[in-house]
Amino acid sequence: MEHDGMIQAAGERIRGAANVVVVTGAGVSAESGIDTYRGAGGLWEKHDVNEVATASALRRDPAKVWRFLLLLREHIAAASPNAAHRAIAALEDRVATVRVITQNIDGLHQAAGSRTVLEIHGNVREARDPETGAIHALGELDLERLPPLCPRTGRVLRPNVLYFEEAYDPEIMGLASRWVRQAEVILIVGTSGMVPTPYFLAWEGKSAGAFVIDVNLDRSAPMFTFGTELADLFLQGKAGVVLPQVVALI
Ligand code: NAD
Repeated sequence: MEHDGMIQAAGERIRGAANVVVVTGAGVSAESGIDTYRGAGGLWEKHDVNEVATASALRRDPAKVWRFLLLLREHIAAASPNAAHRAIAALEDRVATVRVITQNIDGLHQAAGSRTVLEIHGNVREARDPETGAIHALGELDLERLPPLCPRTGRVLRPNVLYFEEAYDPEIMGLASRWVRQAEVILIVGTSGMVPTPYFLAWEGKSAGAFVIDVNLDRSAPMFTFGTELADLFLQGKAGVVLPQVVALI
């Protein structure tokens, strides 16, 4: 099928669905100027992941991990939702149930108006007490001294982000799993499959009967897990171009 036919087919599938889940990765925010994990010349290239985004780095040098998170937060604060985030939010006017599961920590889906967003890797807006799980908005903390302390208990707080080497919160993944199993269509947008979770979720949804549509610049072909081959339709192109075309047909 050529490209226009596939856009048409995607639009028809979504038009006929009452429950759509959108699973997103860093690619959905690329057109907002936020570097993808593997993008050239970006923040990630200038910082060693092992020094700033792993559980062991957090134990070794929490202040350094916090400094990188605050840098990301600044970078993100300068960004706005793009046409892809807006198209995903606009789905809510057309489909009864739309749920977004994102790997991104930037909050741009909510800024675009999506109301049901599960941030499986956390976010840059909050800190967490590692023992009690209590959440604190960063805006309410003294960030002059890092790591920040809970103003009430004086305990050291950590970013509310899932770092490499850490396990997913089972409650969050349980909810994600329930959502994909209820979905009639799963749109998977801008994720490389390097972190296998999005394609596993798509696989789980597909096993329960969902139709899977993958939107990406390139086919995702991770070495050890499945990627785009799992999809029933692959829409190649920029999410900010492809998604508004699809949503215009619904
Ligand atoms: P990734 O960087 O591994 O892959 C990005 C994918 O997006 C690639 O497959 C690329 O082809 C695609 N892409 C790039 N620009 C696109 C566009 N305009 N339209 C459509 N597709 C596009 O990202 P990942 O799979 O999300 O995994 C990396 C990890 O890094 C994740 O855990 C994520 O949480 C984290 N991360 C988050 C952000 C953010 O919050 N915005 C940014 C960077 C990394």
